[in-house]
Parts: sequence; structure tokens; C-alpha cells
Amino acid sequence: MQIKKSLRKIIYSNPLANSLYKKYRIYRYDKVELQSVVIYANSFCNAECSFCDVPKVSEEDGTASGIARPLLGAPLYMSTELFEQIISDRLVNSGKPKFINFLMTEPLLSKNLAEMLRIAKNNGHTTKVTTNGYLLSKRAEEIASYVDYLQISIDALQPLHDKIRGKGFFERAINGLKEIKKISDYSAPTNQDNNLKFLISNELNLTKQFGVKNYE
Ligand code: SF4
Repeated sequence: MQIKKSLRKIIYSNPLANSLYKKYRIYRYDKVELQSVVIYANSFCNAECSFCDVPKVSEEDGTASGIARPLLGAPLYMSTELFEQIISDRLVNSGKPKFINFLMTEPLLSKNLAEMLRIAKNNGHTTKVTTNGYLLSKRAEEIASYVDYLQISIDALQPLHDKIRGKGFFERAINGLKEIKKISDYSAPTNQDNNLKFLISNELNLTKQFGVKNYE
């Protein structure tokens, strides 16, 4: 580690070495083949999950941590124009399909989500949306034909789930699951490890009720 640091110091202090190093890095990046792209479709959330860094972002104090760091100073929503730029970037538009993952913060809050998903699909990519499910009933129909994988976060049964995410989130997520099930066959919940066996085996039984295929 110390050797790396010292080497960098020497390189950065020498203009010729610095310029050669930059060229080397560009050459390295050119060789990189992206597999997946994580999209932050918006910079705020309608939930206040106790474990998450997103609700703790403070623009006033200029503080953010973990996965929420890119949110500091970011616009509320990603515009369709910016998404189009991302999709046409040479790293994404390399001829090989990518996994376009709408992971953050809560994608269903973005009015242009269906449009961005459609653009991704039209460019041959695979799409995934990860949601807390609160707005899923409302938006299921609009997005269903452009989503390859849908991940709905379910942490536990209602009392604990709502304690973690906020009042009413469990019911809304389950209603969303029912709605998407009417339209399509793909739906999968997430949950925290300690609740996994519990969720599979108890009376909620998402597999039996909704044909849920994967638990992560
Ligand atoms: S729904 Fe997701 S982004 Fe929103 S607070 Fe919960 S974990 Fe964080």
C-alpha cells in the first residue's frame, strides 16, 4: 500500500510520467467491458428505512454516506435526456447487452421511469427495477412490458416491515405484488437474511400466493 502511494506521488510530480500514466489508464478503461449499470433515477425516497443511508443525507450539512454519497447535490430526478446520454455512452453502447439496474433510490417515484425502461429495452438491454413497492399498484401497468426483473423489498411480516420502512409499506408492497401478478409472471421479493426462512415458511408464503420465484 505504502509502495503504491509513493509510486503515485512520484508519477504525479513528474509531468511526463503523469501524462504516460493517464494514457495507460485510458487504454485500460478501453479494455473494460461493462456488465451492468446501476441507475440512480432520483435522489430522494418515500421511505425512511432504518438501515438505509438515503434518509440520512443532509444537503444543509453537506453530509452523506455509503450508497447515498452520489445523492449529495444531485438533481431530484434523472432526466430522460441524461439517461439517453448514458445509454449512448461508448462504455454502455458497446454492442453487447448490459444489465440496466434501476436500483436507487425509489425508481417508481420517477415519472419518466417507463420511458427510460423503454429506451433501455429498445437498445437491447436487460432491465431490472428494485422497489419498496409503495407505488407499484399505481405504476405496474405502465412499466410491466419494459421490466425483465422486478425486485420488491419485503423484510418481514407487517409489524416489523412497517417498523423498518414506514407505516403502510407492507400492505402497499403486497398490493403491488398482486397487481403485477395480474399483469405478468415475474416478481421477486428481497428481505433481510434473518427473515428469509421465516418468510418462505410462514403463512405469507409468497411463492404459493404470488408465484414468486426468487428470494435474495
Ligand atoms: S426504500 Fe430503499 S432507498 Fe428508500 S429508504 Fe428504503 S432502502 Fe433506502
